[in-house]
Amino acid sequence: MNIRAMERQRMVFRFEAPGDRPPLFDPEIIQEARTRLLLTFGILNLGICLLAGGAGYFLAGKTLRPIQEMVDEQKRFITDASHELRTPLTSLRTEIEVAMRDKKLTANSARKLLESNLEEVVHLQLLSDSLLSLATTQTVAKNAYTTFTVTDLIEVSLKKVSGMAKKKKIEIKKQLTNAFILGDKQALGEVIVIMLDNAIKYSQKSSSVTIKAIKKNNSVQIHVIDQGIGIAKHERLSIFDRFYRADKARAGGETSGYGLGLSIAKKIVEEHQGTISVSGNTETIFTVVLPQAKASD
Ligand code: ADP
Repeated sequence: MNIRAMERQRMVFRFEAPGDRPPLFDPEIIQEARTRLLLTFGILNLGICLLAGGAGYFLAGKTLRPIQEMVDEQKRFITDASHELRTPLTSLRTEIEVAMRDKKLTANSARKLLESNLEEVVHLQLLSDSLLSLATTQTVAKNAYTTFTVTDLIEVSLKKVSGMAKKKKIEIKKQLTNAFILGDKQALGEVIVIMLDNAIKYSQKSSSVTIKAIKKNNSVQIHVIDQGIGIAKHERLSIFDRFYRADKARAGGETSGYGLGLSIAKKIVEEHQGTISVSGNTETIFTVVLPQAKASD
């Protein structure tokens, strides 16, 4: 028998003596239980604190992530935009400064300078319009969508690029079907114009561009096909990024683009639960797929 047990027995004997009232519990056991209880509660509290802290940190991170992504995206947008604006502005400034330093500037060279400046200003205007469109592109609310035919949508868009096509003597061929689309007609018209505008811009003079509309399952496919300069396979995903211009387009000296059209188009198409992609080997095929609607939608 160990010392503690003997002690306990002695106490029991002592309390067995007549007149003594035995204690209800052994004080040592109570003390031991209290210590154990305190320790358990301490560990439990610590665990709860750690768990609550961890969960709070995780949930806060999850809630803040989209906000952080939006802030990052806006920063990237501003950086890209200022970078694009800097080049034509620098060129404008340099031209003007050089001309002002020239004491023998003739009326003829001043006129040429103004013409060149005007060209830069037109480009800057185009760029600022595209930037504004990209920043504010928001199709009308879904409950304000209207139903229209794909033929109507394409015909309206064709009118907008006909002048440009005529200038390059490009024939636009149509193969249209009648299907309904539910959406923002103006925004989707812009998508068609962007694709046609590119097809004409990156095609040789006196060539042709085809626009097709096909019904497939529950969707409408719109294809814009050209036989122009083409797009390298490794660049086919990047062309939908803001400010991206493929090597061929840059090398070809096409100055009227800023690499914004397709990113605007992608944004609009995705807002309509559609997709936009590019394919083709000898020709360039841009395809937009949109959900088909019913006439009564
Ligand atoms: P951009 O104003 O430069 O045409 P986009 O965003 O509309 O801007 O197009 C991005 C890039 O994709 C263009 O710079 C060009 O390199 C390429 N691209 C678009 N459409 C065509 C096409 N039909 N043929 C060849 N390249 C194209």
